[in-house]
Amino acid sequence: MAGIYIHIPFCASFCRYCSFYSERCRDTRLMARYVDALSEEIRVVRLQVHDLDPQAQNRPETRLQVQPLYPWAQPTLYIGGGTPSLLPPEQLERIVTAVRQYLLPAATQNGHNDVFGEFTLEANPDDITPESLAAWKRLGVNRLSLGVQSFDDGLLRWMGRRHTAAQAEKAVRMAREAGFDNISLDLIFGYVGLTDDIWLDTLDHALALAPEHLSCYQMSVEEGSTLGEEAAAGAYAPPAQETCARQYALLRQRVAAAGFHHYEISNFARPGYESRHNSAYWRREPYQGFGPGAHSYDGERLRRWNNPDLDAYLAAFTPAATDTDRRAVMGSETLSDTDLWNERVMLALRTAAGLDLTTLAPEHRAAIAPAVERLLAEGLLERLPQRTLVRIPAERFFISDSIISDLFL
Ligand code: SF4
Repeated sequence: MAGIYIHIPFCASFCRYCSFYSERCRDTRLMARYVDALSEEIRVVRLQVHDLDPQAQNRPETRLQVQPLYPWAQPTLYIGGGTPSLLPPEQLERIVTAVRQYLLPAATQNGHNDVFGEFTLEANPDDITPESLAAWKRLGVNRLSLGVQSFDDGLLRWMGRRHTAAQAEKAVRMAREAGFDNISLDLIFGYVGLTDDIWLDTLDHALALAPEHLSCYQMSVEEGSTLGEEAAAGAYAPPAQETCARQYALLRQRVAAAGFHHYEISNFARPGYESRHNSAYWRREPYQGFGPGAHSYDGERLRRWNNPDLDAYLAAFTPAATDTDRRAVMGSETLSDTDLWNERVMLALRTAAGLDLTTLAPEHRAAIAPAVERLLAEGLLERLPQRTLVRIPAERFFISDSIISDLFL
């Protein structure tokens, strides 16, 4: 499985805690210009992907004039942001058309909309209407990821969210009526004002809507966010880690009792509804990202990204732009052996699937063997029945950062 990620860098307003790359925008003309640029990037990448790195010059991906970029059956498509649900459906349709035309094998150009193994659209509850849902369904969206965050109206206002709890509930119900049978809800815990009781109430509200998937993140104070500025000015201090750990434990208990599988630190799914697109990231499979701020990975050593700058992106992806213009808005790096190992450890140990120690070169495995044995003895790692696999026990996920860093080279 390989993934295609499309970034939509527009939000109607900014949320207090968020530092994702996005511009405040409701201007549909700018959105149309953006989709022009995005379509151009998709076309250009189809023709000359990965030529930024000399080591990639001889790879088959560079001979794309004759080969489809994604010869795999049913890649995943993830449209995230920002707020993709702000885009008018006709603009979303242009994006999907470009993806199909330039990135999918010719055999899939058959008019059917089920060409993606998984097609996720991130949406905000206040953008959801029966009409938008019907349009997304026609495009082939088969998984909705809704940014709910809380079912407490006061906390939603504090976060700067545009929707209410009632709107979120209504959005899920409308999505069900429109035929969406794979719905993920995003929730946030670990911030000042969120008591354990309110958190449990939010979890109960979420579970009552019977989603297939939950993504639950601890609020972090990010540079570039309003909360980050408030923290720097001394106007906000995050709650104690014990509070966050307790809320994470409450989350785990509540959703496990409801039948969810805790398959990644922040992600829970009913069996069979684990995110295929995100799981491929954690397995370090190739993906291609489009749009400002989007990252790509060739599944080996090459990482590539577009700078998070909408104006520069719009200028670089016009039919008249040159390679030089495009290179100016991109970056790339080639991972060293150490980078590869650290990344493999970090991503694999986020998951219940765990880390296969045999993927490490013998000398590297020998170097970390004492740390592995110590963590096993302390109960901070456990062996899976396949003896070469280790993972962090789910009840220790909350302190995973320190466990993982013990295994870095
Ligand atoms: S959380 Fe979502 S809607 Fe809010 S500012 Fe960030 S990207 Fe935009």
